[in-house]
Amino acid sequence: MTVRVRYAPSPTGHLHIGGARTALFNYLFAKNQGGTFILRIEDTDLERNVDHAAEAFAEQLRWLGVEWDEGAYVGGEYGPYICTDRLSIYDEHIRLLRERGYAYDCFCTETELAEHREMAIVRGETPRYSGRCRHLTEQQRKAFLTEGRKPALRFRVSDDEVIHFADMIRGEMTFDAGATGGDFVIVKSNGIPTYNFACTVDDYLMKITHVIRGEEHISNTPRQLLIYKAFGWEPPTFAHVSLILGANGKKLSKRDESIIQFIEQYRDLGYLPEAMFNFLALLGWTPSEKQEILARDEVIRAFGFDRVNKSGAFFDAAKLAWMNGHYVRERSEQELLPLVKHMFLNYHKESKWLESDPWLLKLISLYKDKLNYLAQLPEMASPFLSDVLFPDEDANALLADDSTRAVLSEFAEQVANTTSWDADVAKATLKAVQAATGHKGKELYMPLRAAVLGQLHGPDLNQSLALLGRERILARLLYVQ
Ligand code: GLU
Repeated sequence: MTVRVRYAPSPTGHLHIGGARTALFNYLFAKNQGGTFILRIEDTDLERNVDHAAEAFAEQLRWLGVEWDEGAYVGGEYGPYICTDRLSIYDEHIRLLRERGYAYDCFCTETELAEHREMAIVRGETPRYSGRCRHLTEQQRKAFLTEGRKPALRFRVSDDEVIHFADMIRGEMTFDAGATGGDFVIVKSNGIPTYNFACTVDDYLMKITHVIRGEEHISNTPRQLLIYKAFGWEPPTFAHVSLILGANGKKLSKRDESIIQFIEQYRDLGYLPEAMFNFLALLGWTPSEKQEILARDEVIRAFGFDRVNKSGAFFDAAKLAWMNGHYVRERSEQELLPLVKHMFLNYHKESKWLESDPWLLKLISLYKDKLNYLAQLPEMASPFLSDVLFPDEDANALLADDSTRAVLSEFAEQVANTTSWDADVAKATLKAVQAATGHKGKELYMPLRAAVLGQLHGPDLNQSLALLGRERILARLLYVQ
């Protein structure tokens, strides 16, 4: 059997961590098994669709390196892959279900249904559809239609049925059909099929072999299995991936502001796709070697549902930052350059420093080892980026001490006497200042750092001085003397 899996987002917002992890697990399983990964856009909930969200999903998946072999925007044998382009296909199948007696028109209004639900809750019962429209006479139907009511279509559920499936992560799952909420809507009164119906028809027609999706869909699976059964179709194998948990151990909520939720935000902050790929793969899957850093190919080779956890996966933002730092260091300065430029333009509209690639490359090289993500650079490197230096508290305290004067004035003089300026000249100049003043080590470096960089600690001093340039060094020394 050739594995065929799909990621089927609803284009109702941005790609978030959970969605990206689901897409990635589908992708990894497909690649591991030599199968096909499909992207389908489930846009049947018209009111919730957001313009251009589907394109943005696609773009972000591509950025992550989770490329699909077939589906929306790339085509394939089983298209179309956007649900609203498949309405005539659904119509045919709806007709079949009606003919076989599995579906009936329901004229209940939203208000009536809500009242019913509330009454059930008051009685302490689980709300379920009463079945009121199951046996309407032709006369009653006509009366509703004359009233102007537009029917929804409901799927007839036999209460005594027991539904089983073997979940790849959770093992055997059993549901009583009677506990699934009663007859459910498969076509809304606007004529558009619901997710459960469209998804089932699409998964079948697209020959999906494994449905891998978030745990929040477990309650949909029994309904979908009833639809498979009504059509006489063999269902796929299911895997419901566990929830992602925030630091408080609770399900990560899209409103939780303590965690950055959207892939796009990570990209903008200068997280690298290879880090996100590695990190997301470990959100619920553990490789047998217990390694943390795994290249794309290694993940693909090792991935399998036998090592996907049933319990929730903790989202550890600090681990992601650490991992990203690892990948930042793996990239060359040249590779980081366009990303850094993009970030400066996006966040700082400050273009002055963007004009000189060689200068920026040196800046990146000075800070690369200290960065977890690229958006940390502007603040970390502020002594190089801002015209006005604001020494920090420690630097100010040191500069207030008169004993620093000798070093600073000697240094100013030596710098002024140089004819060229680079890291080697800076090093020789420091040696000369040491010889002239007798100050060495910290007593030499700290006052200089404080005066020209505004901080007592930072990247390599010779390289920093070279990057800062002679004119700025002299201007800053003048200011503190
Ligand atoms: N459209 C659903 C969602 O975005 C996908 C459900 C499924 O994978 O079956 O959550």
